[in-house]
Amino acid sequence: MSGFSLSNILKLLEKANDKGVSISFADDELSVHVQKGMQIDPELLNELKDNKGSLVYYFQQFASTADGASYRAPIVRFDRNKMTQVPLSFSQERLWFIDQLEGSVQYHLPTVLRLQGDLNLDALNRALQSIINRHEVLRTVIREEDGNGYQYVTEENQFQVIFIEGSEYKERKLRDAFVEKLIRKPFDLSTDHMLRADLIRLAPNDYILVVTMHHIAADAWSTSVLVREVMELYSSYAENRTPRLLSLPIQYADYAVWQRDYLRGEVLEKKMHYWKNKLNGAATLQLPTDFPRPAFQNSQGANAEFIIDKTLLDQLQKLSKQQGATLFMTLLAAFKVLLHRYSSQDDICVGTSMASREHQELENLIGFFVNTLTLRSVIDSKASFTQLLQQVRTTTLQAYENLDVPFEKVVEAVVKERDPGRNPLFQVMLVLANTPEVSALRLNEIQLSKENYDPNISKFDLTFFMTETSAGMDGLVQYRTDLFKEETIVRMVDHYTELLSAIAKSPAQQIGLLSMVGEAEKQQLLHGFNESVVDYPKNKTIVDFFEELAAKTPDNIALVFEGERLTYKQLNERSNQVAHYLRSKGVQEDHLVPLCIERSHYMLIGMLGILKAGAAYVPIEPDFPLERKHFVLNDTQANLVVSTEQSSSTLPPDSDLFVVEIDDLVSAVRAQSTENPSSSRRPHHLAYVIYTSGSTGRPKGVMIEHGNLVDYVFGLRQSIQIDLCRSYALVSSIATDLGNTALYSSLVFGGALHVFSKESVSNIEYLHRYFAEHAIDCLKIVPSHWRALSAPGRPLFPARMLVFGGEALQSELIQNIRQSDIACRIINHYGPTETTIGKLLHIVDPDRTYNKTIPIGKPFSNSGVYILSKDMELCPVGIPGQLYIWGDGVSRGYLNNGELTDQKFLNSRFNKKDRRPMYSTGDIVRWLPDGNIEFIGRADDQVKIRG
Ligand code: AMP
Ligand code: MG
Repeated sequence: MSGFSLSNILKLLEKANDKGVSISFADDELSVHVQKGMQIDPELLNELKDNKGSLVYYFQQFASTADGASYRAPIVRFDRNKMTQVPLSFSQERLWFIDQLEGSVQYHLPTVLRLQGDLNLDALNRALQSIINRHEVLRTVIREEDGNGYQYVTEENQFQVIFIEGSEYKERKLRDAFVEKLIRKPFDLSTDHMLRADLIRLAPNDYILVVTMHHIAADAWSTSVLVREVMELYSSYAENRTPRLLSLPIQYADYAVWQRDYLRGEVLEKKMHYWKNKLNGAATLQLPTDFPRPAFQNSQGANAEFIIDKTLLDQLQKLSKQQGATLFMTLLAAFKVLLHRYSSQDDICVGTSMASREHQELENLIGFFVNTLTLRSVIDSKASFTQLLQQVRTTTLQAYENLDVPFEKVVEAVVKERDPGRNPLFQVMLVLANTPEVSALRLNEIQLSKENYDPNISKFDLTFFMTETSAGMDGLVQYRTDLFKEETIVRMVDHYTELLSAIAKSPAQQIGLLSMVGEAEKQQLLHGFNESVVDYPKNKTIVDFFEELAAKTPDNIALVFEGERLTYKQLNERSNQVAHYLRSKGVQEDHLVPLCIERSHYMLIGMLGILKAGAAYVPIEPDFPLERKHFVLNDTQANLVVSTEQSSSTLPPDSDLFVVEIDDLVSAVRAQSTENPSSSRRPHHLAYVIYTSGSTGRPKGVMIEHGNLVDYVFGLRQSIQIDLCRSYALVSSIATDLGNTALYSSLVFGGALHVFSKESVSNIEYLHRYFAEHAIDCLKIVPSHWRALSAPGRPLFPARMLVFGGEALQSELIQNIRQSDIACRIINHYGPTETTIGKLLHIVDPDRTYNKTIPIGKPFSNSGVYILSKDMELCPVGIPGQLYIWGDGVSRGYLNNGELTDQKFLNSRFNKKDRRPMYSTGDIVRWLPDGNIEFIGRADDQVKIRG
C-alpha cells in the first residue's frame, strides 16, 4: 500500500457514491454493491482495486460502526505507520489558504509576560521545548502535493528560545514597538515551529517573554494550556522533579483525521442545510463609520477597554437565569439591539467564536479547535427585549448543534458574491471568554505578570471581548482604525452599557424604547447642541424693512437687471403702484396671488407689489409645464395673476383668469399712486406659497409667513453677518426658495440685488465677466450649478460669501476652492422649504479635514433639531436618524392639505408646549461630536434636481 491519504479515500468513496456504487466492509471483507440496472464503471473499479489496502484501513480505523456517518465516533489515535499524508483540519486548511493569499500576521497569537527574578534560562528553554515535543501540532508543518496540503510532524528537540539583550527596551514605548515587531514576524507554515519565544533581558532579573503561536496550531484556549504547562514544567525543572502533566492520548492530527471522517455525507449535509437555511440572504451590517470604507479590508486595529460593574453583572446574570438563557445570550441580544440602533437595520448577524472542544479528549490539547459561528436575528423594535432574548437563545442553541461545520464551508455555501471590503456573513463579533481560568501566574520564585499588549490588529469591523472577573466584567473592543475613531468606540461602549442597564431595569420594555443615551448626553442633544436664540423684531413684516430703507436710503441701488438699475425709492414706488392696483381689484391680506414673470426686475416689482398689497405671492415659472400651472392656479383658486406681456402668453388660456401685466407701458398700473399703501399686514400673514414636488410627485404648496422670513434673515445676520454683504446675486428661480437667502437679505439689510435672466445663469463667460466688473459680495447657489460654472482653475467667486445649499456639498469641491486661496467665506446651508429656506449652516473651516461631505452644520435663528430613530427615540452622536426641525422657521403647513400637514408637522414629547410642531424632513443625518450635523441621504428615494 502506498501512503494512506484520508482525503483521497473520502473523495473516492464520494465518487463511487455518485456513480451508484456503494462499498461496505464486514468480516474483514470489502464488498462492492452496484445499484440495480447499473453497470460499474471499469475505471472506477480499477481505482477501487488499486486502493484496496487503503480502503480496508479506512474501514478498520474510521468506519467501524454500522452507521459510520451519523455516529459521532470518539477520537482515537490513528496508526502513525500506516498513514503518510495526514489531512489538515478544515480550519487549518482555510488558514493555510489565507496565508498563501495574503499572509496571516493577523492570526498570530501573542502572549507577553514580564518575568522578574532570578530566571533559570535553561529551565525555561526546556519547558518550552517539552511543550513543543508534547503537542505535535506545534512542530507540524504543512507540506503540499498536487495543491493539497497535509500535515507533517517535524522532529523533537529542535526548539530554542531566542535570547535578546535589550536594556534599551526598558522604556515602554520603545519596548512595545519592538515587541510588536517580534510578534508580527511572519511564520513560514511549511518549515517553522508554530510557536516561537523571544526573551528580552531588560535588566538583570527583569525579562519580557514574548511567546507567539500561529493560530493554525492554537487558539485562545490553547494559550491557557500553554501558560499552565510552562509554569509546571519550569518549576519541575528548576526543582529537579518530574513534571506533573496530564498525558495526551491523542494529538491534533487525530482530531483532523476524525473531523474529515465525521463531517461528510449525511451529517455534513444536515448541518449545512441548517446554515444555508438560516443565513440565506443575510444583510450586510452597515455601521456608520468615521471614515469612508476602503474597497479592500485591512486589519489595522486598536483596542479600547471598558468595565461592567458587579451590580449590573449580577442583574444580567439574574435576568439570564430567569429567562433560561446564558449570560452570553443576554449580552448578545443587547449587542444586537445596539447594532440595530446604530445601523437602522433589522436583520443583524453577529459572529462569535466557539471552542469546539466538546470531546473531553481535546481539553488539554493545544490546537486550532475554535470555530466561528454566525448568529442571525431579525429585530422587531416593537417586540420586548425578553422576546428577542428568547429568539437569540433558540438561534444560539441551534448554532451550537451545528457548530462543527467549518465557517469557511458555510461561507462557500451561502455567500454568492464576496465583498473584499468586508468579512463575509458578519462584520462584527461578540466573544465571551470561556477559556479555562489559569490560577495565579507563578514561575517558582519568579514574579510573573501579563504585559498588556495591544496588537494593533482587528480582523473585523469590531469585536467585543467580554471576560467575567470577580469585580464584574472586563470588556475589550477591538476595532478597525481605518473605519473608526477611538472617541466613537468609547461612545459606543457607553451606549452598550447604558443599554444593558436599561435592559436590567426593564427587560420587558419594547426594544425601540430602550434608552441607550445617558442623562448627560441627553441634555447635550436636547439643549447643548440646540442653542440658537436670536432676537428679531417680532412685530414687523418684510415690507416694513424695505419701506424703511426706501425712506432712509432712497438713492441706494436696490436692484440691477442687465441695463436696468432701480434705487430703493424707485423700486418702492414701482411696487407701490402694483400694490394699489391690486388692492383696487380686491386683493387683501392672506390672499394668494400667482406671480408668473420671467427673471427680471419685473419679477421683483411684482413680488413686492403683491406683498405690499398685503397678499402672498405664489411664484409660477413661465416655463413650468402647463399641467403644473393649472395645478397651482386651481389649488390657489386664483382669479388674478400678476405677469408681464412676455410671460402672460405662457399662462393657460382661461377666460375667468384676470391677468395683471405690470410692464412699463401698462397705463392702468402706472397711473396708480407711488405712495406706500396702507395695510393691516402682520407677521403672521402669509408672504408666499412655494410648491415643492416632494416624494409623492404631487406638488404641495408650502405656506410661509412674514414672521418666518424675518426670523430667518436676522438669524443669518447673527450667525454669518450676512448684512456685511452689499450686493447679492440671484441666479435661481423664485419658484424655489433657494435664492431667497440672497433676495430677502438684500431687501432687509439694504443691499443691491443683481438679478440674472434664465439664459445668463448658465453662461459661464457672461457670469465671470459680470462678477469681475461688478463687485458681487454674496452668491447663493446649488453646488452642481456652481461646479458647472467653475471651469477647472477658474472658480466663480463672490467677494465675501459663497453660500451653498439645496444638495449635499462634497468636500472635494471645497478642496479645490481651498487651493485657490481666496478670502471669501464658504458656507453650507441646509433646509427644506417647509422650514423657511434654511435652518442649519456650517462655515467651512479651511484648516479642517472633512469627511466626504461637508457637514450641514448647526441650527440657527431660533430653531433646533432632533435626530430621532424610527421609534422616535433620540439618536446619540454618530448614529443616523431622521432630522426633525422645530422653531420659529416652521411654516404654517401645506395649502389645502391638512392631512399631509398633520403627517409632516408633528408634536413630540420633546417639544415644549408653546412651540409650533416640529417638521419631519425625511432626511437622514447624524450628529458629529462637535454638534455639527452630517447629511447622509433621504429616508425615501425622492430625487431632487438642482435644489
Ligand atoms: P427643498 O424643500 O426643495 O428646498 O429641498 C429640501 C431638501 O434638499 C432637503 O430636505 C435635503 O434633502 C436637500 N438639501 C437642501 N440643502 C441641502 C444641503 N446643504 N445638503 C444636503 N442636502 C440638502
Ligand atoms: Mg430649499
